Amino acid sequence: MNTGRLFVVSTPIGNIEDMTFRAVKVLQSVDMIAAEDTRHSRRLLNHYGISKSCVAFHEHNETSMTSRLLNELQSGKSIALISDAGTPLIRDPGFQLVRAAKTQEIDVVPIPGCCAAIAALSASGLATDRFLFAGFPPRTQSARQAFLQSLAKETGTVILYESSHRIRECLGTISDVFPGTRQVVIARELTKQHESIQSVNVATITSLFENNPYAEKGEFVILIEGHNPKQTDQTIDQQCQVMLKRLLDECSLKTAVELTTELTGAKKKQIYQMALQLKKQN
Ligand code: SAM
Repeated sequence: MNTGRLFVVSTPIGNIEDMTFRAVKVLQSVDMIAAEDTRHSRRLLNHYGISKSCVAFHEHNETSMTSRLLNELQSGKSIALISDAGTPLIRDPGFQLVRAAKTQEIDVVPIPGCCAAIAALSASGLATDRFLFAGFPPRTQSARQAFLQSLAKETGTVILYESSHRIRECLGTISDVFPGTRQVVIARELTKQHESIQSVNVATITSLFENNPYAEKGEFVILIEGHNPKQTDQTIDQQCQVMLKRLLDECSLKTAVELTTELTGAKKKQIYQMALQLKKQN
């Protein structure tokens, strides 16, 4: 008997109309749909007139459901895997199932569509020739710090997911770890009514929510400009020194430090030390 096929089907990340014709056709034609949350997906399926039976497939039953779904595929049934939003397996369940299906030489067919990381990258204005998707940063401060530190020298654009519960803390840790000059793009509520895509630099990142408490609500993709190996710490220091020297001729130490910090995004403490040093030399 021929084995069935496993379709990995992308669904919208907010706007229900972001569904491909092919995705609808596949969902209408398969024998069974494996959905992360069957109740959540029912709204989408109803919208497209799909009345197929759904089974729950989520992180808590992935292991047991993988063997059940493999049996169905072996017996010739075709299955579509969907998650609550976007592309299954991208920070969503499905990896065990796809890997097991590949091992058993079952056809796995991607039905591409939405993915928050790629949507955000495409509109970010940051480099797209090389990027690193790193998923959700860890929840605790020390683990998050170490995780971000490990990404600080990545030369491609770094893409992170974050929820509204931790966005403030996460941006705070980014400002501790990355140089102030690095550009950051915060893509919020993509494809939804309150979509926003803001570009800032690390030095000003924490001021983002200052006058707008609603800005931290919703779902987020954070993109961080890659490290430029040509711009070494030494060249940044040299640029700061030149600027400081010039400003110290024109204004007070306090103002010169404030302006240099603002314009270069360097750490204030470091600029202050540099200014004291320059004053001494004069
Ligand atoms: N599989 C999904 C994909 O393809 O993008 C990702 C699922 S992951 C569990 C959910 C996270 O994706 C959210 O916490 C958020 O970081 C990001 N995300 C999903 N939808 C989003 C949207 N509309 N706008 C911004 N970020 C979104």
